[in-house]
Amino acid sequence: MTPRLVFTDLDGSLLDHDTYSFEPALPVLAILREQGIPLIPVTSKTRAEVERLRQHLDNADPFIVENGAAVMIPVGYFAQQPADTEVRGSYWVHELSAPREVWQAQLQTLRSDYAGQFETFADMGPSGIAQGTGLALADAELANCREYSEPLRWLGSVEDRSEFIERLRHAGATPLQGGRFLSVAGACDKGRALRWLRGAYQQALQASTVDDLAAGDSGNDVAMLEAAGTALVIRSPVHDFPVVKRVNQLMHSRAFGPAGWAEGVLQWLAIADHND
Ligand SMILES: [Mg+2]
Repeated sequence: MTPRLVFTDLDGSLLDHDTYSFEPALPVLAILREQGIPLIPVTSKTRAEVERLRQHLDNADPFIVENGAAVMIPVGYFAQQPADTEVRGSYWVHELSAPREVWQAQLQTLRSDYAGQFETFADMGPSGIAQGTGLALADAELANCREYSEPLRWLGSVEDRSEFIERLRHAGATPLQGGRFLSVAGACDKGRALRWLRGAYQQALQASTVDDLAAGDSGNDVAMLEAAGTALVIRSPVHDFPVVKRVNQLMHSRAFGPAGWAEGVLQWLAIADHND
C-alpha cells in the first residue's frame, strides 16, 4: 500500500481564522490517526508555537516552521537519522534558511540608511509584538522565539520600502510581505520543505511513491499546494482563494477553515481508498 501523508497549514486552514479552533476537524483527525496517516503542520509559526499546538492536537509527527525555513523531525521518528539533518535538542533538523542572527546582522547594516523607518521583532520585544499583533503576552513570547527569520514593521514610505527590499535581496535575503509584517529569511518556501520531507519519508519507508495531500488557504501556501500529489485549497472568510496553477488533483473547499479542511481531507481519503 502506498504511504499517505497530510501536510497542512495551520491558521485559516486546520485552525479557524478568528478563534483558532480545530473542533470541526476532530472527526477527520481521528480517522487519520486510526489509519496511521501522519499529520504534518507546515506553518509560518515558530517551533515554540507549534510545540504547544502539537500538545493540544496530541500530535507527534514532524513539522515545518517559519514558512519552510526548517523541518523538525522528532529524534527516533524514523529507524535512522535522515541524511542532511542535524541533531538539535530532541529533533533531527533539516534547515533551508540561515539562522535568524544572519538576517539580523544584515538588517543592522541598513539601520543608518533607513533610520527610524523599520522596527524588527527583536526591537519590539514581546510586549511590542503583543501590541502590534493583538496576541497575548505569553503568545507574543513564543512568536518571538524565531530561529530562522526576522519579521519587521515598515514605518517609512512605499518608495523607500521597495528600495529597502531590493537591497535585502541583493544581500541574499528573501523578504516576504505578510499582512502586517515583512519577514526576512533565506530562499525557502513551504514547497521546498515539503519535497524534502516527502523524500525523507520515501527513503525511510523504502517507498517508490507517496500519496500526499497539502492543505492551505493563502499565498504563502501556493508552493506547497503545487508540490503535493493532491492540493486542497481552503476557503477563507477574509480573502479570495490563492491562485494555483495546477489543474489536476486540485480541490477547493466549500466550507471555511477547519470545516473546509475536514470536507476536503475526507474527499481525498475516499479517493485514495478507491485507488488502493
Ligand atoms: Mg493560513
